[in-house]
Amino acid sequence: MDVAHPVIAFENLEKTFGTLKVLQGISGQVYGGEVVAVIGSSGCGKSTLLRCFNRLEQVNGGKLLVNGHDLTNPALDLNQLRTEVGMVFQQFNLFPHMTVLDNLTLAPRQVLNHTLSDSQAAARRYLDKVGLLAKAESYPDQLSGGQKQRVAIARSLCMNPQIMLFDEPTSALDPELVGEVLQVMQTLAAEGMTMVIVTHEMAFARDCADRIFFLNQGRIEEEGPARQVINHPQSERLQAFLRRMSFAA
Ligand code: ADP
Ligand code: MG
Repeated sequence: MDVAHPVIAFENLEKTFGTLKVLQGISGQVYGGEVVAVIGSSGCGKSTLLRCFNRLEQVNGGKLLVNGHDLTNPALDLNQLRTEVGMVFQQFNLFPHMTVLDNLTLAPRQVLNHTLSDSQAAARRYLDKVGLLAKAESYPDQLSGGQKQRVAIARSLCMNPQIMLFDEPTSALDPELVGEVLQVMQTLAAEGMTMVIVTHEMAFARDCADRIFFLNQGRIEEEGPARQVINHPQSERLQAFLRRMSFAA
């Protein structure tokens, strides 16, 4: 991890929806090669924070720099940003009428102008990486939830991103399929990918993340090295949250 160079830096970040102030002036950094897990109760602003990082949401105040881009700049090139910042959602978002391979080659061809054969070669490489090369010609409906999510991660990797954002990537999965997705994410982390992961998997956050942000009502209530935050929570709210997750230290 390169502590001299945050790849995501935010300061006094504010996001409102109408009269609802969802992010209440929060500050933080994510460093190159770092894995940050974002935890907190439903509705506390985790997805909103993550969505600000690739401009799915536009911030209302404060500063936000991502991979050298000023995200408050209205003239920002969104295609460029989203090439550099991949996102994986709870609900996979694969195109059902397209094969796995076509799902993976679509954006590289349309956005990066890669040739069909180049994009297919890259897609097969990433499918192999997530253990699904044999499913290249399958349709999403023919896959399990865990396999769909691994395909979605491979699709994101096909854009060669510098940063990967994950919004509860295992929340829609049957419990026995969670492990295979976490395994793929663990591999990416070990390879040095910069990742921000919203998750309710406390053991994974503790063991895979470098740091944890605990969000409460639009503020970072507690932040620190993953093991310390999970094993020695300081604030009452984090202690109560971990108890609710059946994860009291
Ligand atoms: P979390 O991911 O932590 O569960 P969210 O970031 O999704 O929380 O939501 C935080 C708050 O913002 C919630 O109260 C939610 O209802 C509200 N919210 C999120 N997106 C929108 C939106 N597009 N319009 C209005 N309110 C929203
Ligand atoms: Mg959410």
